[in-house]
Amino acid sequence: MSKTIIVSNRLPIKISKNNDEYSLSPSEGGLATGLGSIYKRGDNVWIGWPGMEIIEEQDKNKVTAQLAEQNLQPVFLSQDEINEYYEGFSNDVLWPVFHYYASTYANYKESNWDFYKTVNEKFKDAILKIAEPGDTIWIHDYQLLLVPALVRTHLPDVSIGFFQHIPFPSNEMFRLIPWRDELLAGMLGADLIGFHTFDDVRHFLNAATRLLPVTVSSNIITYGERSVVIESFPMGIDDKKYASLPLEKSVQSQAEIIKDTFKGCKLIISIDRLDYSKGILQRLQAFELLLQQHEEYHSKIALYMIVVPSRDSVPQYAQLRDEIDKRVGNINSIYRTIEWSPIHYYYRSVPVELLSALYSTADVCLVTPMRDGMNLVSKEFVASRIHDDGVLILSEMAGASKELIDALIVNPNNTKEVCDTIIKAVNMPLEEQQWRMQAMRQIVTKFNISHWVKIFMDKLKEVKQFQRSMQTRHVSGATEQSIINRYHNTNKRIIFLDYDGTLVGFRSDIDQASPDQELHYLIDNLVADPANDVVLISGRKHENLDEWFGDSKLYLIAEHGSWFKQNNTTWHKISGLSDNWKNDIYPLMETYVDRTPGSFIEEKSYSLVWHYRKAQKGLGELRANELMNNLKYLANDKGLQLLAGDKVLEVKNIEINKGRAALTILDKKSYDFILAFGDDYTDEDLFKALPESAVTIKVGSNLSAAKFYLRNPTEVRKLLKSFIQNIPVNYSM
Ligand code: UDP
Repeated sequence: MSKTIIVSNRLPIKISKNNDEYSLSPSEGGLATGLGSIYKRGDNVWIGWPGMEIIEEQDKNKVTAQLAEQNLQPVFLSQDEINEYYEGFSNDVLWPVFHYYASTYANYKESNWDFYKTVNEKFKDAILKIAEPGDTIWIHDYQLLLVPALVRTHLPDVSIGFFQHIPFPSNEMFRLIPWRDELLAGMLGADLIGFHTFDDVRHFLNAATRLLPVTVSSNIITYGERSVVIESFPMGIDDKKYASLPLEKSVQSQAEIIKDTFKGCKLIISIDRLDYSKGILQRLQAFELLLQQHEEYHSKIALYMIVVPSRDSVPQYAQLRDEIDKRVGNINSIYRTIEWSPIHYYYRSVPVELLSALYSTADVCLVTPMRDGMNLVSKEFVASRIHDDGVLILSEMAGASKELIDALIVNPNNTKEVCDTIIKAVNMPLEEQQWRMQAMRQIVTKFNISHWVKIFMDKLKEVKQFQRSMQTRHVSGATEQSIINRYHNTNKRIIFLDYDGTLVGFRSDIDQASPDQELHYLIDNLVADPANDVVLISGRKHENLDEWFGDSKLYLIAEHGSWFKQNNTTWHKISGLSDNWKNDIYPLMETYVDRTPGSFIEEKSYSLVWHYRKAQKGLGELRANELMNNLKYLANDKGLQLLAGDKVLEVKNIEINKGRAALTILDKKSYDFILAFGDDYTDEDLFKALPESAVTIKVGSNLSAAKFYLRNPTEVRKLLKSFIQNIPVNYSM
């Protein structure tokens, strides 16, 4: 039976030591609840650090046994490892950079990176101890970015999902990290990478495209031989828990006390962990501005602010805590009266009953982080409003703002806007509160934590199935052998070969991609067999093909089927076509050459090609889209076809295509084996035109009308070699 392994930095428990005994208590986080439905079942396991340094071997054994009863498996970490991997690298490099605080807080120390790698290896070892090929592994968060690829090396076919709970920043931030390529490559060991929002997905795709040799097609990254799907899965909460808590006696009695204390006052709550990303000081500034400018609200509003202690042994955090203390003290000292304090500030964590009492009685919940992957407090507030009232003010920098669009959305840097929005919130009519809250409650209820777990796991399964079905289409093993057998058992064969991207790789200079000696050798041997007709069918100019293959016995088709040349005869051009359209299109294309350094136009008899392989990454694609839009209608009117190829945009007469060209040859003679190779858009016409019995092979991608695929020109050449008898084994260039 295959199993599921959850992996995260921390196990979902709290551990404490009393005399010589360890006791475990469950952690209350939503993630632990959501994943409980998985790891508590059967052989499934959750792997992670138990949260405490345990040194003695016998203590480790004791704790391991206790954890095993709950399907948990520890990775023990020393204090040094915690200091360097967790505090030093995860929290002093990844956390600030991913929250856009690189310049203020990131500290790139090589030794921290070394520890990060070592500890990620430790997690990998723990996984490998129990993982087997059919298992599913779900790795969580920024502390373990390298683990997916580390596991993949040992278990190439295992299903790996990765979810990042914090934002993924713009590439301009991400690329500052000295070890950015290794981090990306580590993540790309997964089959499915999940983020909270679509913006994170976009940023990740962008970073991968710019930093690694990958190809991207919509949200699928192909890296080496693997395809990885990147998608957003906004995380939810345990909505039922927050909706039922306000009905409990203990919560209701605390709610009464709160109502009584703040009678006649609009109560605004604010709840965060101590962190610079939460925008606590900026929030205080907005509240202070309100008190300064709107005396009419004195004694009418109060801010109940909880800051949950976190990492305050680290100087930056201690400083932030002291600064909050000071600001709160200042504001209160200026505005407090005997009956009223503007801010009720608590630096401590609070029991869930008090949390629920606050969530359910407050008039306004003020959530204004400068950056937040998701922000669960905002969702917990919404789930607690069982009477559909109350107002949520939410920072547009929180992932949750993408879902809770009926909140009052603010830019947390805009102090005036936050101040005005608080005023709007405390004056909001009940009816408006209700329609907004109802809409938000529907979302929080539907997209709850179990929904999140389910859709992630379903998608991971789907991705794996897709990859496996693709494997059967890859020409290797039995498929390869059967194609070779068919080749050898037939004697009236035709082989269509595309050139660029199929027989040779792409070069930034189109004239550099001339055929090498090995390719000539392969082609010469194929054409030497009288049972073969070999057709080179390319988009290149006929002059180009003539220079390279003019003397060979190949059948040459140039410019997608505009020019033909049969074994050593002369070239002839397809008749009855006009190229007058070029007079209009050429000048238009030229404006794009002028605006896009590195791009140029290639002119062929019946086509114009705008090349942008050497243009700045991103800019080329942007301009190509623009040009495409620009040409769309013109092309229609003039009977032209637009083709977006690999770093090219081609405009050509619609009558010309590789499929038609191939059929003119097939009409003349009958064959018992038709084989076609191609990598491009234009080759799809060829694949579609050929009869059902043909073996069609797409190169470099598995999304195609072709029946099979090969990964690159090297694999194509290997297959062609196997057709040729008596080839010297170590022939190479
Ligand atoms: N929370 C807590 N103790 C408290 C107050 C709040 O554990 O005293 C919880 C809160 O219910 C929420 C979490 O802390 O589930 C904060 O999650 P969020 O996504 O808002 O911020 P994070 O701290 O994860 O960045």
